[in-house]
Amino acid sequence: MKKREFLKYGGLALGALVATTPAVMASMGDKKKPVRRSAGSSLKLSFLPYDLKLRHVFTIASNSRTTTPDVLTMIECDGVKGYGEASLPPYLVETQASVSEFLSKVNLGQFNDPFLLEDILEYVDGVMPGNHAAKASIDLALHDLVGKLMGQPCYRILGLNPLKTPNTSFTIGIDTPDVVRQKTKEADIYKVLKVKVGRDNDKEMIETIRSVTDKPLFVDANQGWTDKQKALDMIFWLKERGVLFIEQPMAKDKKDDIAWITQNSPLPIIADEALQGVEDLLSMKGIYSGINIKLMKCGGMHNALKMIRIARELDMKILFGCMTETSCAVSAAAQLSPLVDWADLDGNLLIGNDVYEGVTVTDGKLVLPDRPGLGLIEKVKLF
Ligand code: MG
Repeated sequence: MKKREFLKYGGLALGALVATTPAVMASMGDKKKPVRRSAGSSLKLSFLPYDLKLRHVFTIASNSRTTTPDVLTMIECDGVKGYGEASLPPYLVETQASVSEFLSKVNLGQFNDPFLLEDILEYVDGVMPGNHAAKASIDLALHDLVGKLMGQPCYRILGLNPLKTPNTSFTIGIDTPDVVRQKTKEADIYKVLKVKVGRDNDKEMIETIRSVTDKPLFVDANQGWTDKQKALDMIFWLKERGVLFIEQPMAKDKKDDIAWITQNSPLPIIADEALQGVEDLLSMKGIYSGINIKLMKCGGMHNALKMIRIARELDMKILFGCMTETSCAVSAAAQLSPLVDWADLDGNLLIGNDVYEGVTVTDGKLVLPDRPGLGLIEKVKLF
C-alpha cells in the first residue's frame, strides 16, 4: 500500500502521535514519567531462542503438539529495554533458525531515535521479504520501548479506551470427551469459549461442551471441512447451539466454496489461514465476512492497526487472535483490542513457562495493565 493510502486509513497512529509529542523528558524513576533521552544513543537489538512449553497437548484439525518454538527479542536505548517475540507454531514457515538469521541481518545500530517507527519498520520490512513473525518481534519491542520512553501505555498513546477491551475466548482443543469436559470446567472464568473442530467428532465435541456449559462459542474448523454443503449444514446446526461465528471452514484455496458458504451462512465466516497480512486483506471481501488478525502473521502492531482500519472501511468483522505465545505478544494484541469485535487472546494462558506478566483476564474480560509500553513485568531476567 502506498503511503498516501495508508495515511488515509489512519496509518500508524502511534508513529504520528509520537512525532508531534513534546520532547521526551525527565528520568525513568517514576514509571509514568517520560525519559529524557541523551542524544545519539543507537538502538541495540538482542534475541534469544526460547521453547514455550504447553500446559496440555494441543490438537487442531491438522496436528498435535506440546511445545511451540519462539524467539524473544529486546531493543535497548538509553538504558531502557523494549521486549518483543516471534512465536513460531510448526504449521508456519518460519523457524527459530530463520528468525535468528533474519534478526542477525537487521542493523538497528544505524538508528538513534526509536520514535522514528515509520523509518525503522520500513527498513526492517525491506531487509528480506516474508519473515512476518521475525518482523513482528522487532515491531513489538519498538512499541514497548517507545511507550516506556514516553512513560505511557501503548493504548493510551494510541488514544484507545482500556474499558472497551472485549472478553477473550479460551480455546478448547480437540480431545476425548473426558478431557474436553475437564478443560471446559477449568475455563470457568471465561465468558466465551473457542472450540476447535474439523475432524469426524465435531458434534460430539460441541455436545460434550454443552453438557457442561451454555456459554457462547467461537468455532474454528482450521480448514478441516471438505464438503461445502455438509459444512453449511453443520453451521446451521452450530447456530442452534449458541455459536457466534465460524473460522476458516474449508481449505483456504477453496475460495468459491467458502464464498458460497458465506453467502448462505447464518453466522459470520472468518478468514484465518487464508489471510496473512495487509496485502491479502482486499481480496477477502466477498469471500469472508470477517478476518482474524494475528501479530505473528501480519508483522506486528503497526500492520495490525492498518488492517483494522481497512477492514472497517470494508465493513468486515474483526477477530484478534494469537499463537501460543508469551504475555509479551498477547499484551501487544490486547493494546489494540478496544478496536475489534472479538478477541481470542489466550495464547499466554496455554503455556507453562511464560517469562512476562502483562494483560490479565478478570471475569473473562481483558484488563490492560496501567504500565508503560506493553505493560510487561519480567518474571525471569533473560536479557
Ligand atoms: Mg484459526
